Amino acid sequence: MIPSAICFHCGSAKSHCLDPCAACGKAPATRGERAQSLALSIDFMVQSDELGNEDVSESWDDLQRRGAQIKAHGSAGLSIERVELAATQIDLIEASTPRKIVLSTVLWLLPAMLVAVVGSALSCSGK
Ligand SMILES: [Zn+2]
Repeated sequence: MIPSAICFHCGSAKSHCLDPCAACGKAPATRGERAQSLALSIDFMVQSDELGNEDVSESWDDLQRRGAQIKAHGSAGLSIERVELAATQIDLIEASTPRKIVLSTVLWLLPAMLVAVVGSALSCSGK
């Protein structure tokens, strides 16, 4: 496992911010918990129309310090603004993902499908 996130509940390192935690078993369920989990991840990015995604995550060292803070005090000490920013991204991710995946899959498959169709048409007419 390559850790990329800190569990919002117990402060342990885990592989992905929205996965259940191997140490405490807790998975982020509510919007607020998912927002905290994203803010506690090195995958925390903000979508920007002009520049693509902007990486706004904290360094892994800083995130591990927050993990230690969760273990000691039960709170990561994230600012309300940061959790709100993460919540906005969670909304965007969850609103756009299925459509974007379908679209990018179609765009990715289209050239291969054209080649297959043209190829089989050519091989039929050649007979
Ligand atoms: Zn945990």
